[in-house]
Amino acid sequence: MKFLKCKKDAIPPSTGRKVAIVGAGPAGLGAAGWLRCKGHDVVVYDMAPEPGGMVLFGIPVTRIPKEPLRRGIRELMDAGVKFVLRTKVDMTVKYGPIDEVMEPAEKVHLEDLIKEFDAVLIATGTWKTRDMGVKGEDLPWVYPAMEWIVALHMSMFGYRPPDTVPPLEGRILVVGGGLTAADAVLIPLSYQQFKGRIKEVVLSYRRSKQLAPMGEREIDNLILHGAKFWELTQPVEFREENGKRIVRFVRMKLVQTKGEKRPRPVPIEGSEFEEEFDYVLKAVGVKPTPPLEPGCCGIELNPDGTIKTDENYMTTRPGVFAAGDVRHGPSLIGPALKSGLEAAMKIHEYLTSKS
Ligand SMILES: Cc1cc2nc3c(=O)[nH]c(=O)nc-3n(C[C@H](O)[C@H](O)[C@H](O)COP(=O)(O)OP(=O)(O)OC[C@H]3O[C@@H](n4cnc5c(N)ncnc54)[C@H](O)[C@@H]3O)c2cc1C
Repeated sequence: MKFLKCKKDAIPPSTGRKVAIVGAGPAGLGAAGWLRCKGHDVVVYDMAPEPGGMVLFGIPVTRIPKEPLRRGIRELMDAGVKFVLRTKVDMTVKYGPIDEVMEPAEKVHLEDLIKEFDAVLIATGTWKTRDMGVKGEDLPWVYPAMEWIVALHMSMFGYRPPDTVPPLEGRILVVGGGLTAADAVLIPLSYQQFKGRIKEVVLSYRRSKQLAPMGEREIDNLILHGAKFWELTQPVEFREENGKRIVRFVRMKLVQTKGEKRPRPVPIEGSEFEEEFDYVLKAVGVKPTPPLEPGCCGIELNPDGTIKTDENYMTTRPGVFAAGDVRHGPSLIGPALKSGLEAAMKIHEYLTSKS
């Protein structure tokens, strides 16, 4: 993956302008590569022990090989981009289970970065799984899928002992219809370390196959790998009974109402049924994780938790910009990278207009 947008020896002498980037995913890395080529001094902060964001720690190795990403990051380092890792901005902001997975060692306050640097770009993505709002979802055998996948990859890459990854074996239920759900199904079915330990993986989605965000082809692929697909079903309770782990489901029907883009799933009365599982991975969406408490630092958030920006990617605090999934919500590598590049161009305009 190419992040540096010029040849290393074409980088002009330092402009003396310093830019802090919070988040080393595709948005932050793309911005770093563009700004460095303009001669700015760039420092990238990340809570993880290695740069790469969701592309490194979220997306399975079987879907995206990691070496091209690491090569692109080494190129940025060789070009003078500095990385400050295992450092959370702002440590007082709680993300939930991912904080325990990442265990960042250092803390930096956003306000201090804003004072120290000429511009700050926030590109912190979406690092919290949404709650389902279902009874029993906090039982220890019901895991947030994204956090579990990140913990697994952290251990595979040598950053955590294998015994710190929550165990997975037997009959597995995955709940959701997006990319994280697809990977939560694929990993136990395809990674070597689960061979012989998984009895069955069932994917439950509350809409139909045709309406799943992961796409019909992906569902067919999961079925080819051995998964069972239960469309139009939704867990309504997780509970333990006589040592058994029970999931209560309800069947859904789709109702198209005027003015709504997609048909709405509605529970069918009296259709509840129960099944026994060993573990559940819930993948019902992720939430934006800005590195600040709501109301902090003069930076406003949108009602969905993304960071509010103007058309120049600038937040409501002058000199502070936002890009990637934390700005526009969960997306894909391409749109995140593009938004990082566009934000970098606006930051360059901002810095040069100040001189
Ligand atoms: C399981 C899964 C599978 C996916 N599969 C695909 C796929 O197949 N194809 C595809 O195109 N997209 C896929 N995506 C989506 C894609 O990974 C994201 O859209 C993209 O990575 C977003 O880029 P970003 O730079 O905005 O944020 P991220 O990649 O999330 O990077 C944000 C970075 O910020 C850091 N960070 C967060 N908070 C702080 C803080 N407070 N202080 C310091 N650092 C912080 C994080 O450690 C991370 O490195 C997948 C996502 C997931 C979760």
